Amino acid sequence: MNRIIEADVVVCGGGPAGINAAVSAGRSGARTVLIERYGFLGGMSTAASVYPWMTFHTTSGKQVIAGLAQEIIDRLMAQGASPGHVRDTVGFVHTITPYHPEVYKVLALDMLKEAGVRLLAHSFVDEVQTEGDRIEAVRLTTKSGKLEVRGRLFIDTTGDADIAYLAGAPCLQGREGDRLTQPMTMKFRMRGVDLARVKAYMLAHPEEFYHKTPFAELESLPLSGVLGYYKHWKEADLPINRDQVLFFTGPEADEVLVNTTRVQGLDGTNVEDLTEAEDLGRRQVLMVAKFMRERLPGFENASISSVGAQIGIRETRRIDGLYALQVDDVVQGRRFDDCIARSGYPIDIHDPSGKGVTAAWVEGDGAYDIPYRCLLPQKIENLLAGGRCISTSHEALATTRLTPSCMATGQAAGTAAALAVRGQTSPAEIDVRQLQQELERHGALLR
Ligand SMILES: Cc1cc2nc3c(=O)[nH]c(=O)nc-3n(C[C@H](O)[C@H](O)[C@H](O)COP(=O)(O)OP(=O)(O)OC[C@H]3O[C@@H](n4cnc5c(N)ncnc54)[C@H](O)[C@@H]3O)c2cc1C
Repeated sequence: MNRIIEADVVVCGGGPAGINAAVSAGRSGARTVLIERYGFLGGMSTAASVYPWMTFHTTSGKQVIAGLAQEIIDRLMAQGASPGHVRDTVGFVHTITPYHPEVYKVLALDMLKEAGVRLLAHSFVDEVQTEGDRIEAVRLTTKSGKLEVRGRLFIDTTGDADIAYLAGAPCLQGREGDRLTQPMTMKFRMRGVDLARVKAYMLAHPEEFYHKTPFAELESLPLSGVLGYYKHWKEADLPINRDQVLFFTGPEADEVLVNTTRVQGLDGTNVEDLTEAEDLGRRQVLMVAKFMRERLPGFENASISSVGAQIGIRETRRIDGLYALQVDDVVQGRRFDDCIARSGYPIDIHDPSGKGVTAAWVEGDGAYDIPYRCLLPQKIENLLAGGRCISTSHEALATTRLTPSCMATGQAAGTAAALAVRGQTSPAEIDVRQLQQELERHGALLR
């Protein structure tokens, strides 16, 4: 194999943001390479079993994310691998979007091939070569030795801002002051769950569940998510710093995805912390599954069917870019001239040190704008970020980190990179109006 690979656009990280960035850049005609450390695509959605995707809508039900993200849903639906957007029976948001992770992995491969993107799997970027304020190449450690990928534009979709950090661009981590991040969660699936019995118990004991659960409609709605069991959880007194049980149903009819473990105080960019987090997380999975089987009506015959290949990491490093989205921008639904994506997902902070979750909903029309400047780092002129590591405050990240918005900022980063290549300019110099028109032409909702 050639040790040096050349491309126009080099996308680092094959999660939801990186897939969409690479597909967009490839479809726009740029020679694109996508680099992913695992043997499969999907990032947290597949490696950490994050599920379902939430949300494409505002709390009143208006769709605000579409484009490539919606194309993925449509194509999953056509394969029977997603029911599409369904009502959220937790009541936290209006819709959630279940999907089959194995079909998503293959669909992502199909879309990359169709767009002419070259994929390098099992490839970890651990070095960035810079020349002044530009990245010349990234270096990968692979099974077949070191490779170098040279490019004109680079996109950081590693979730951890690895490329920006290695290139020397300013980055931030965690909340202001103590730098603590949102906790990690080891997710797992159980099969053999009697969901009719779960729903019957909820209808008979509404006080044990989240106050926004849509009880008035619950009888007729398919059960998609459950939050609560406050009494059972308190009585069990497990050594997990959390105050409630959360799970989502599917993709199979007797299956749930449990989002209840919690590992706090560890840094997802530190290898020793990550090692400890995997240990703690897997032990908590066994504990929570036993608790559910023994105490929750409907789980008597359930058993663990899968556990994340890695612990789910909500927050690590992010770029400190040309603009950092703030909590007020989100809550007040602020509009920006350089909007490249919108979202209606509330601020949702799993407490970095306490038991609970802090939430704040978006006012106005229920959606906020993500400005293009959040994708642009300081200092490095040929780099864009997409997905979890864009420029925000700790609080605003608690909404932009959700998968549909990561897909949307990924699409924007890929489209912007292709425009910069075509115009032989830098991402900061492209015509943002043209970027917006291009995104809208490909289905993005920006108004
Ligand atoms: C516990 C938990 C619960 C969540 N719940 C939900 C939910 O219910 N609904 C929802 O929509 N979202 C949820 N999220 C958020 C969402 O999963 C993530 O924020 C989202 O996946 C981020 O997408 P991304 O593409 O930016 O990054 P990631 O999904 O993290 O993808 C990054 C990719 O880059 C690769 N990579 C990283 N570093 C390197 C490197 N140096 N070299 C090569 N490859 C690299 C990784 O292997 C990965 O494939 C949750 C997240 C967590 C952790």
